[in-house]
Amino acid sequence: MDKARNEQFERKIDIFGQKLGLVKNISTKLENQQAVQSAQKPEKTLEVIEELQCALEELFVAEEEIKAQNEELAIAHDQIAAERQRYQELFEFAPDGYLVTDPSGIVREHNQAAASLLNMPKSALVGKPLANYIALKDRHALRYQLNRVQELERLPEWEINICPRQSQPFAAAITIATVRDRQGKVTDLRCMIRDITARKQAEEKLQKIQVQNLQLQESAKLKSHFLAIMSHELRSPMNAIIGFSQILLRQAPPNLASNQANMVERIFSNGKHLLKLIDEILDFARIEAGRMELKLAEFNLVQLVKETVEESRSLAEQKNLVLEVELNLTNPNIVNDSDRLRQVLINLISNAIKFTGEGKVAVTVEELWSDRLAIAVKDTGIGIAEADIEHIFDEFRQANQTITRQHGGTGLGLAICDRLVRLMQGKIDVESKLGEGSTFTIEIPRRVEVGNNN
Ligand code: ADP
Repeated sequence: MDKARNEQFERKIDIFGQKLGLVKNISTKLENQQAVQSAQKPEKTLEVIEELQCALEELFVAEEEIKAQNEELAIAHDQIAAERQRYQELFEFAPDGYLVTDPSGIVREHNQAAASLLNMPKSALVGKPLANYIALKDRHALRYQLNRVQELERLPEWEINICPRQSQPFAAAITIATVRDRQGKVTDLRCMIRDITARKQAEEKLQKIQVQNLQLQESAKLKSHFLAIMSHELRSPMNAIIGFSQILLRQAPPNLASNQANMVERIFSNGKHLLKLIDEILDFARIEAGRMELKLAEFNLVQLVKETVEESRSLAEQKNLVLEVELNLTNPNIVNDSDRLRQVLINLISNAIKFTGEGKVAVTVEELWSDRLAIAVKDTGIGIAEADIEHIFDEFRQANQTITRQHGGTGLGLAICDRLVRLMQGKIDVESKLGEGSTFTIEIPRRVEVGNNN
């Protein structure tokens, strides 16, 4: 009950007392008058009786008010008891350990969780210093914090090692807050102890994973470095093999027998295949090591697409495929790395030709919203199964091993395209239906920004 209510109640009791006094006075007056009644006039007696009735009525009203007040008091009392019970239960069944200690850290009260954390029977903990259950190395810190909290409201959570009775120590987080009297003097300390073993274990695991991650990144870098060096070293002899076999082929009719020319031809085409493979590995290693940089310049996209398609025309004709181009650009100028964009297009077009038995391959270019462009390569070929589509841009992935083995290839081409298009701040997508054909679409900005590659 609040102070105002108390005062009001005290005032009413005063009034009640005054009225009681009045009734007493009147009744004494009546008694005195009894003795001299015979000598007095009957009017006087009537007057006194009326006064008495009046006072009695007021007394009755005051009594009613006090009764009502009493009822209110009883309700308030019940509410306070229920609240206390609720807080006691909350305290008792809280999952964390709660202890109330005196200012020096002697336990006065605690909940069930605190007793279990410290492995103590409930009643045995009261009267013991909290420091008894703290690891030796942390006791000094606890004492320091207990002194410090006298000046503060609450201490921020800190970590401490708890030594429960006859049990293994564990890491805990502890928070301490003060309870003060009206003069501001600390009367109690409220401590909350939380077992953080699981959190610590998770942190340790995370740390281990981070270290492993770093090691993995390091070994991936080493692998890319190794690949880059090896590929570079392989390129020179391979170029020599291709160059010399080409010279030999030019002199074939007079100087080489037809079976010899045939063998040199195979050396030449296998050499070219190997060189393409080495170039792909080199590119991929460079991209993975973050050493691939775009050489940005402004150029005419329409011209580049037309030239690239023409380069592939003979391949399409060998397979009787129609090769179409559709260009829908109002402004053909873009900023990008023309060599790398050509490399992506060649890869997509040669794949489309490689995996199409009959029908056509169509290349379309169009403007999209917000200064972005789309280049699509569509074929009527074998298509890609739904299950293979999600991995199609992963390195060394080939959709259908039996079919792709007939066509050769490393499974690196699309992975390189994907990484290059991402470097161009764009994205590559594929839509395909098995047996009906595929459409690979790249979406790139009209102007690739310097140093904004992801
Ligand atoms: P590869 O050098 O083996 O062609 P790519 O990365 O370019 O490597 O392609 C990976 C695989 O994706 C191919 O082996 C093939 O299974 C599938 N693929 C790529 N393009 C097409 C396409 N246009 N039609 C059907 N399958 C395709």
